[in-house]
Amino acid sequence: IAVSQIRNFSIIAHIDHGKSTLADRLLQATGTVADREMKEQFLDNMDLERERGITIKLQAARMDYTAQDGQQYVLNLIDTPGHVDFSYEVSRSLIACEGALLVVDASQGVEAQTLANVYLALEHDLEIIPVLNKIDLPGSDADRVGQEIEEIIGLDCSGAIHASAKQGLGITEILESVVLLVPPPEDNTHKPLRALIFDSYYDAYRGVIVYFRVMDGLVNKGDRVRLMASGKEYDIDELGVLSPNQIQVGSLHAGEVGYFAASIKAVADARVGDTITLAKARAPEPLPGYAEAKPMVFCGMFPTDADQYPDLREALEKLKLSDAALKYEPETSSAMGFGFRCGFLGLLHMEIVQERLEREYNLDLITTAPSVIYKVVLLDGSEIYIDNPSTLPAPQGRDHIEEPYVRLDIITPEGYVGALMELCQTRRGTFKDMKYLTPERTTLMYEMPLAEVVTDFFDQMKSRTKGYASMEYQFIGYRTNELVRMDILINGDAVDPLASIVHRDKAYYMGKALVEKLKELIPRHQFKIPLQASIGSRVIASESIPALRKDVLAKCYGGDISRKKKLLQKQAKGKKRMKSIGTVDVPQEAFMAVLKLD
Ligand code: GDP
Ligand code: MG
Repeated sequence: IAVSQIRNFSIIAHIDHGKSTLADRLLQATGTVADREMKEQFLDNMDLERERGITIKLQAARMDYTAQDGQQYVLNLIDTPGHVDFSYEVSRSLIACEGALLVVDASQGVEAQTLANVYLALEHDLEIIPVLNKIDLPGSDADRVGQEIEEIIGLDCSGAIHASAKQGLGITEILESVVLLVPPPEDNTHKPLRALIFDSYYDAYRGVIVYFRVMDGLVNKGDRVRLMASGKEYDIDELGVLSPNQIQVGSLHAGEVGYFAASIKAVADARVGDTITLAKARAPEPLPGYAEAKPMVFCGMFPTDADQYPDLREALEKLKLSDAALKYEPETSSAMGFGFRCGFLGLLHMEIVQERLEREYNLDLITTAPSVIYKVVLLDGSEIYIDNPSTLPAPQGRDHIEEPYVRLDIITPEGYVGALMELCQTRRGTFKDMKYLTPERTTLMYEMPLAEVVTDFFDQMKSRTKGYASMEYQFIGYRTNELVRMDILINGDAVDPLASIVHRDKAYYMGKALVEKLKELIPRHQFKIPLQASIGSRVIASESIPALRKDVLAKCYGGDISRKKKLLQKQAKGKKRMKSIGTVDVPQEAFMAVLKLD
C-alpha cells in the first residue's frame, strides 16, 4: 500500500464518553469485523477491562476503507488507555499517529482526562477531529459542548461531527474526515529502519508480541532486529497486521502499523517507547522520548497463609512477563512474615495487579496501604529513597525528608467548588488557580503531595460531587515537609505494615482516627487488646478492644456437638482474610484503614 493511502489515528475520550463503542462501529462499518463476530467492544479484550468499562491496555486495528473519492485507504486505529496511570503509554501511542478523534459526550462536556490527552496530542502536532457523541440522548446539547471545546481547547468546532456511536449516526462522516483531514505519514521508506513500540503483550507460545509503527524504513519477516534501548537482538519469526485479528504479512514499510513475534521472553525486553532498528543497518539515533516506566505507588503483599509464599512468587514472576511496569522484591515483615514489596504506576495499576493475583492465580492476599517514595537526605548529605514507611531512618540520622508532589487538575460543576476546596485543603493542597470554563463548569488547580492523592482522594472527590467531577494529575517534583513516622502498636507490638509517614500537623488527628478505626475493624478476642499510635517513643493516641465474653460456646447448652461444630465453622469462615499478628487476628480491612479516615 502506498504511504499516501495510510491514515494512522487514535481516539481520545474521557471514560464513558463512547470511545470503545465508536471503535466498534468503525470496525463494523469498514467490514473489518463481521457483524456476527462483533462482541460488544471488540477492542477492550481483557475481562477486567470489560468489567470496569475502561481500556487498560492499548490495541490496534487495521481497517480497509473505500472512501467517497473511490480510492482505497488503510486506516490504522491505535487505541489508548483511558487512565492517568498509563499516560506514558498514551503518549507513545499518540506519537504513532498523525491524527486523533476527540470524542466528547454531548450530554456531558469536556472532562479532565479529555483535556490532558488533547494537550498530549497537540504537543505531538496531531490533527484533531472533534466528535460530539451521544446526540441521541435527550439531554445532549452538541452546540453547547462544541462551544465549550472551542473555549477551553481553542479548537474550531464549527465542523465538529455530530455522532451517536450507539445508533451508528455520523460514522461515515467520521471515516471520511479521517481520510480527508488526517495527514498521511511521511514517506521515509528509504531511510534506515526505525519503528516505535507502542504496546506489547506476553503470549505463552510465541513469546512477546510487539505492536509497533514503522516510522522510517522497511522491515521484513526473518530480519534480525535490534531494540535500541535494551540493546538486545532478535530474529523476527512472525510479522503481521492487526485487523484486529493477527494476519501475517511479509514486510511492513514506513507509515504502517503491525506486530511481530521474535521469541522474546518478557515484555520488559521490548518496552513501550523503545525503537526497533535492523541489526545489520542500524539507524544512527533512536526515536526520541523513550522513558522507563517508573513506579509511583508501593504496597506490601503477603499471603494470608504462609504456605502460599512460593505460589505468590511464581504468580508475580508470571505477571511480570506481561507487565513491564510492575516491580517487586521480597519483603520480610516481623508482623506479616514473608511477602513482597510491589511497585505500581498508580492506584488503578495496583488494583489491577491485586485482582489478577487473586482471580487468575487463586491467591489469598493481605495487601498493605499504598505508600509513595520518599527522598530522605541524611546528615552527610547523601540521599536515600524509601518506599516502605517502616524503613524510615530515625530522626537523629537524617537531615530532612522530601515527598513527591503532583499538580492536580479538577473539572467540576460550579456548585461543588466549595466542597472540593475543603477536601483539597485537608489534603495539604496548595491552591494555584481557578477558572470558569463555562458559566457552569470550573477548573481547579492545586499542588498536592502525591501521598494525599493515593489515599482515597479520587473516591472522596467523586462522593463529594455526586460523581460529576473529574481529575488528572502529573508529577512535578520533590518538596521538603515536616514528616514523621507514625507507628501502630497492637497488644504492645509495633506492626510494621501499619506504619505510615504523615505530616507532623496531622499526626495527632490521624493517630486518633486510626486507632479508633482499628478498634472497629479488629474483632474481639479472649483478652483485652491495647491499640496505640506512637511517634518515636511517644504515644499519641490509644484505645483498647475489650475482651470477648466467654459465652459464645456457652449458648450451646447440653453440649450438642453438631451445633457446636456449626458455630465453630461459622467463626472459622469469618476468619478468612485474617493475619495473625502475635496472638491477635487482624483482618485485611485493618491494613487499609489509614485510607478511610476522612
Ligand atoms: P469508553 O469508556 O469511552 O470506552 O465508553 P464506552 O464506549 O464503553 O461507552 C460508555 C457507555 O456509553 C456505554 O454504556 C455505551 O453503551 C454508551 N454509549 C456510547 N456511545 C453512545 C451513544 O452514542 N449514545 C448513547 N445513548 N450511549 C452511548
Ligand atoms: Mg472503553
